[in-house]
Amino acid sequence: MTEHWQIGVDLGGTSFKCGLISPEYKIVARNHAPTHALAGPEQAAERIAEHVRALLKALPVRAQVSALGICSPGPLDPLTGTLIEPPNLGWRDVPFARMVSERVGMPVTLEHDAKAAALGEYHFGAGRGSDAMALIIVGTGIAAGIILNGQVYRGAHNSAGEIGHITVDVDGPICRCGSNGCVEIYASGPGIISAYEYAAHTRVDSAEVIAQAAERGDENARRVFARAGRALGAGMASLAMVMDISTFVMFGGVMQAGAFVLEPTAQALKHYSYQSVGSRARIVLAELGSDAGILGAAWRAAHG
Ligand SMILES: [Zn+2]
Repeated sequence: MTEHWQIGVDLGGTSFKCGLISPEYKIVARNHAPTHALAGPEQAAERIAEHVRALLKALPVRAQVSALGICSPGPLDPLTGTLIEPPNLGWRDVPFARMVSERVGMPVTLEHDAKAAALGEYHFGAGRGSDAMALIIVGTGIAAGIILNGQVYRGAHNSAGEIGHITVDVDGPICRCGSNGCVEIYASGPGIISAYEYAAHTRVDSAEVIAQAAERGDENARRVFARAGRALGAGMASLAMVMDISTFVMFGGVMQAGAFVLEPTAQALKHYSYQSVGSRARIVLAELGSDAGILGAAWRAAHG
């Protein structure tokens, strides 16, 4: 009997990662390369196809790859496999799934990276067994991938999950999205950095440096993470109240601050929601790292 294997590809602005996945959803071979987004989508599709063909050499004799899933930053159309205008790739209206499919000779699906990672964590990681799960990615931006009854929740325009732009202070500073007081202003990496620089009268390169300062007892660093956690937890409380989320899976660079950000997040989640919702929701750390996107993209390719 033929075994059906899959391939998952995580396409980012600077690099792409490919994984060959067994029927048990183990990544048994992998490779990666720079995206070179400026060289255009044709070249990127060609280079991904080359790396996929290289992975196929590791395929066992009785196995065949039945589906290939790509995940990428949005906005994108998961039904047509079109990249609409992802800012960190700089391409526009590119039928990327079809371009890769023509080169590798198998069906290819395209999924939003946060939603693919949510699928990965839901099926194979920290979200296993949860009824209503949200993967919260806290890095340069903040976004959620929401899984309800085992399915990605997309909304009417595939825009569900923009938790970074929930308003937590109606009179707060203007956000890049045009609204005021969004979660992202306080809890994203750049938001944390600028708040710390203002408070400590110094310049820092990354939120990681501020996490190290918090570890050493720096009061400014601890205050900035506490404020980030309050804003994040308030945004999560809004999401929990509307969707009755049972499990929040936390991922992204800001989570390196550990308890300095997670404790105020958990407190705010409880404080800004009904007791029957916020205090029953679990907050857990993601387990799969960047493999979540590869596994989730492949799962989506195999299951539609
Ligand atoms: Zn905003």
